[in-house]
Amino acid sequence: MTAPFGLLLATTNRGKVAELTALFGDVGLTLVPMSALPTKLPPVVEDGATFLDNALLKAHAAARATGMVTLAEDSGLEVDVLGGRPGVRSARFAKEGATDAENNALLLSMLADVDDEQRTARFKCVMVLVDPWSNTEPFVAEGRCEGVIAREPQGSGGFGYDPLFVVSGENKTMAEIAEDRKNEISHRARAAALVVPFIKALAQERTRAAADLVSSSTGRDPTPV
Ligand code: IMP
Repeated sequence: MTAPFGLLLATTNRGKVAELTALFGDVGLTLVPMSALPTKLPPVVEDGATFLDNALLKAHAAARATGMVTLAEDSGLEVDVLGGRPGVRSARFAKEGATDAENNALLLSMLADVDDEQRTARFKCVMVLVDPWSNTEPFVAEGRCEGVIAREPQGSGGFGYDPLFVVSGENKTMAEIAEDRKNEISHRARAAALVVPFIKALAQERTRAAADLVSSSTGRDPTPV
């Protein structure tokens, strides 16, 4: 049965939509990608100083425009020898509107003279859930995945910096790892694991409230026919 309430995924990044759809497949809310909305929402200027700032900017803008419970995340790559860059600028590291290949090429050139031991990095994801019908604070979760930056791209899966990111303990780049495995170990998967129980509880609460409303207005048992 289709869940009666929607959860808006506030991202236009197709790689993220695919991963979030797999990670939130059974939460009891129908996942609604931005592409399914009847009107296109204006782009959000992601000028926050942190992943959390940007995730909140995206979630609040989409929740305000649609009235929907909204999940947003901001994520990126932090390279230690670069002082945490590209960080919040991961998507536009090479330039505004850069392709993944341009960002990867710039990263490789900046690390050309850096030894193997100093190529440590991590993917970080901050995920937020905003409920525009409640005055509670947004739910916030963070996930990390440690690794090192390879000397050349390897693998064809995933997106973004995946072909350059050798995952600790796996000895493969994120782009060489099967989708199912990425969805167990990635920064996004780890943040999602913290959010899922919260969304499930919310879905149950909404379903119960809707059932109570039906029975109080009709006097009938709200069991669907
Ligand atoms: P934003 O969160 O939309 O600002 O963009 C995040 C950027 O970080 C992406 O465009 C990628 O370049 C990078 N990124 C985030 N998560 C991943 C991932 O799982 N794999 C590879 N790159 C990622």
